[in-house]
Amino acid sequence: MDLALTDEQRQLREMVHSFLMSYCTKEWLDQLEATESYPFDLFERFAELGLLGLGVPSQYGGSDGGMLEVALVSEQLGHVGGSVNMTYFPTAVFGNQTLLGGASEEMKKAYLPEMAAGRLRTAFALTEPEAGSDAAAVRTRARADGADWLIDGSKIFSTGAHVADYLVVTARTGDADGPSRSLTVFLVDASATGLSIRGIPKLGHNAVKTCEVGFDQVRVPGDAVVGEVGGGWRTLINALDAERIGVAALCVGLAQRCTDLALEYAKGREQFGQPIARFQAISHMLAEMETETAAGRWLAYESAWRKDQDLPCSKEASMGKAYATELATRTATRGMQILGGYSYTTEYEMERFYREAKLYEVAGGSTQIQRNIIARHLGID
Ligand SMILES: Cc1cc2nc3c(=O)[nH]c(=O)nc-3n(C[C@H](O)[C@H](O)[C@H](O)COP(=O)(O)OP(=O)(O)OC[C@H]3O[C@@H](n4cnc5c(N)ncnc54)[C@H](O)[C@@H]3O)c2cc1C
Repeated sequence: MDLALTDEQRQLREMVHSFLMSYCTKEWLDQLEATESYPFDLFERFAELGLLGLGVPSQYGGSDGGMLEVALVSEQLGHVGGSVNMTYFPTAVFGNQTLLGGASEEMKKAYLPEMAAGRLRTAFALTEPEAGSDAAAVRTRARADGADWLIDGSKIFSTGAHVADYLVVTARTGDADGPSRSLTVFLVDASATGLSIRGIPKLGHNAVKTCEVGFDQVRVPGDAVVGEVGGGWRTLINALDAERIGVAALCVGLAQRCTDLALEYAKGREQFGQPIARFQAISHMLAEMETETAAGRWLAYESAWRKDQDLPCSKEASMGKAYATELATRTATRGMQILGGYSYTTEYEMERFYREAKLYEVAGGSTQIQRNIIARHLGID
């Protein structure tokens, strides 16, 4: 069994790691988070480094590679935390993967090169006040008006909508039972008349706002439909699998960083005349953190690899997300314990990872929803 990454994949991981560690310093990130300032410069650097086009074939202006490459980058984003991943995911995961999953050739050729070059940002607008875990219960409605569509309704929790050029919007276009024929995905110009966008204050990741988006008779052209009218659910599946794999990898990175920070601290901090790392209560916690993070990494990598091989990957993506997101909160909690009182101060990064980790158990399909999916794959309905 060969689990080794290729030379190119290792180089990609190292390049992204050293870029992020030097560019996204604690001071830089603290300032962005405190002032809630979107890091436009970082988005541009992602484009220059070819990261926004990863997983996108070069015929559409991308950098080639696949989901494993996106996962390797996501893992490194997790090492830094903060809003760095929220600068990357809305375009490089949601936008790219939705278009790759369902858009026509013309649409892919028109938008993907712009996104890869960092000239166009997207945000994903699926969740609604009444359609969270039950994502197929979307109420936002699009109705045909001549050659155009008119969209009415409201979305919630659309990350990066306030700085997006286009919103990837799922709307109801039919009343057929089940999501398979009644939903349609649209690429909506974020400056369209009738659109309102409002940031919602939150616990962390504050440099990139997560927004409520209102649609009041928003007119979009017929060619804004991604894929087929009524085929929205099929189009979304690619993006949702990709999100789960990316988030799993991100959480592995977050867990690794918490482990590394806690280890360094435990070796340096002395109590009772010796480094606290020597106390078995601490060393065993660190041993478990390291072991569980390695387990999460292989779940994430395997699901990414399966997606790249066109093998079924929904069960594996859910297993990876459920495990790695709980791993992230568990590891950040242990990191807090190991740093003792200092963990609770903003002079150390652990408190930020602790706040941020919780999000991933809730968003992108909660842990309970991932377990439901896994159970369905086990034949339990
Ligand atoms: C900061 C942030 C960023 C986000 N970014 C985006 C984004 O960019 N785009 C987007 O579209 N959405 C985004 N989301 C939305 C996110 O994906 C949803 O919050 C998530 O899917 C859960 O939906 P909900 O919040 O409505 O919770 P609910 O669906 O109301 O769930 C509440 C609780 O009930 C549980 N529950 C619900 N149904 C079941 C069930 N069948 N079985 C067992 N338990 C169940 C859930 O697990 C959860 O614990 C974001 C959310 C946050 C907080």
